Amino acid sequence: MTAQNAALAALRQYYGYDSFRPGQQGIVEALLAGRDVLGVMPTGAGKSVCYQIPAALLPGVTLVISPLISLMRDQVDAVNDIGLPAAFVNTTQDMDEQAMVLAQAAAGQIKLLYVAPERLETSRFRDFAARTPISLIAVDEAHCVSQWGQDFRSSYLGIGEFIAGLPQRPPIGAFTATATERVRQDIIGLLGLCDPAITVTGFDRPNLYFDVVKLETKYKVAWVASYIAEHADESGIVYCATRKNTEDIAATLNDMGHTAVAYHGGMNADVREKAQRDFITDKVPVVVATNAFGMGIDKSDVRFVIHYNMPESIEAYYQEAGRAGRDGEPSRCTLLWNESDIVTRRRLLDSDYENDRMTPEQQEIVRQSKRRLLDGMIGYCRTTDCLHRYMTRYFGQELAAAAGGTDTAGEVNGKCGACSNCESTFATTDVTQVARAISRCVHDVNQRVGSGKIVKILRGSQAQDLAWLNPEQLPTFGMLKDVNTALIRDVLNQMATDGYLSIAEGRLPIVQFGVRAAETVAPGFHYEIKKVERKSASRAVQRDMRAGGATGAEAAGSGAPFSSYVPDDDAEALFQKLRELRRTIAQEIGKPPYIVFSDKTLRDMAVIRPVTNAQFLAVNGVGEHKLELYGKCFMEAVAAFNAGKTQ
Ligand code: ADP
Repeated sequence: MTAQNAALAALRQYYGYDSFRPGQQGIVEALLAGRDVLGVMPTGAGKSVCYQIPAALLPGVTLVISPLISLMRDQVDAVNDIGLPAAFVNTTQDMDEQAMVLAQAAAGQIKLLYVAPERLETSRFRDFAARTPISLIAVDEAHCVSQWGQDFRSSYLGIGEFIAGLPQRPPIGAFTATATERVRQDIIGLLGLCDPAITVTGFDRPNLYFDVVKLETKYKVAWVASYIAEHADESGIVYCATRKNTEDIAATLNDMGHTAVAYHGGMNADVREKAQRDFITDKVPVVVATNAFGMGIDKSDVRFVIHYNMPESIEAYYQEAGRAGRDGEPSRCTLLWNESDIVTRRRLLDSDYENDRMTPEQQEIVRQSKRRLLDGMIGYCRTTDCLHRYMTRYFGQELAAAAGGTDTAGEVNGKCGACSNCESTFATTDVTQVARAISRCVHDVNQRVGSGKIVKILRGSQAQDLAWLNPEQLPTFGMLKDVNTALIRDVLNQMATDGYLSIAEGRLPIVQFGVRAAETVAPGFHYEIKKVERKSASRAVQRDMRAGGATGAEAAGSGAPFSSYVPDDDAEALFQKLRELRRTIAQEIGKPPYIVFSDKTLRDMAVIRPVTNAQFLAVNGVGEHKLELYGKCFMEAVAAFNAGKTQ
């Protein structure tokens, strides 16, 4: 059998999936051929499959290096459950347990061994690695090696040395969802990857519904509460900017009769771990968290992620929002924002770094790049364009520049049907004249100054720092003297986001023309930016506020965003029965429900209604081992349901 066929057969046998997702097959084949790999794929794209299939097919053990000890048990459970023998060694085990696992691995009884990077430095582990045939090393969350990433871990720096010390170097697969070029170069350099096959998959996630709601801060809790009330049987994450916010909001939600738990880095480790576990095992449907929550969270059926505040960058937003819908089922990512969020973010950004050991000049460079990232995020809130397209363009531009035109799949033409901009109407402001004036001003100053100065010139400012430009001689001086400074700034940022302008990378963020600059002087040019929040959302909240709480609210921003899945009543009823059964089984075996089956699998089961082994195997996400483990129970439930229908 060719490697290609073997890989596909393994995908069917272990996972019950019919085909590879984009990027997976190439990575699997490269690793099987002994080549190093760097896989950059968004959360939920299926990175684990990329190293688990080679692990299944290669003769020795695969080491999986992963940063979060608290998740290892779940990851290992999930792998064992599809019939691949896996284990972990970490500090939660005593010495005897660790020795036993290593002995099993050395004896070839384990295919995947999960370890934290700190382990690699111990002499016991080095001895083990020196005498055990290691077929593959998979480095998960590989961006942790880079100091440029948000999640730098110094222990990751030891991985390269560990690999270099092995008697025989196996292929290395490094995986991350972080796309910046700098981080990628660090991964390759610091892990010592040899001529890696680099795979970057499209960043669009069509099953996610993107929703941007402009809302005054005082209405936000009511909005969240009404959303939760409307989606009572769903798991979701509410991200907040501060620790205090997480606690306050979780408390308010609980007071209103919902079950929610707070999570942030300042909490006691036990409490934090319990919160995470309760969420993963579906004991608590909603976690209200800071960005400390989620890295490596392996819960595939998170149905919504609500951002209570605007994040600092699209990268951060995408990573957090991307924790929704990893099973591919429709899920919703809502961003609640208002102008004061922008002010707060800008203030935080300027006060950051002051105590750092950087020179004032270096600090300024960091600040400026952070400002640019923030502008990208503000652009997302304000854009009237498709939000999916905004995202893919954001990453696409970056990837195309960095990797010489890598795949930027996911560009959606026309209305995507899966974002609030394509679906709803919102008020816009016609800013055509402002945009034209900005463009002319950039021309007047020969693309030599930053955005602050452009705004000042257009407003007719007498500021000293403009003097060298002789601003009064410029045709655009004072052209927008009656227009609010903030609006000019917003339009300028939006123009940079939409490609009419480009802000130069470098020490000073100079405003230059973008690829679409010429359009601004064309006779038919028309430009709008978003003015107010969607009417439907604000009305729903007001109605809700009048009702004195969240109960009985008509969904704020709900509705039926997805046309792809319209269950009939029977399928929905059976789905609910199957979920109950899944919960019971999960409790019995002490594992999270999604490890038994994903929502997607249960939905497929509810449509297929399998009563024979062959039918059961036809369900998406059912492999041979799961048939053996759970087939009987679930088929009995289906048969009982069918019998009830025919009575
Ligand atoms: P990542 O690590 O990239 O965030 P995972 O490996 O956890 O993503 O995969 C996300 C979900 O997608 C899991 O439920 C996984 O089983 C599923 N999945 C992965 N590959 C496929 C595939 N080829 N077909 C269908 N589902 C898949």
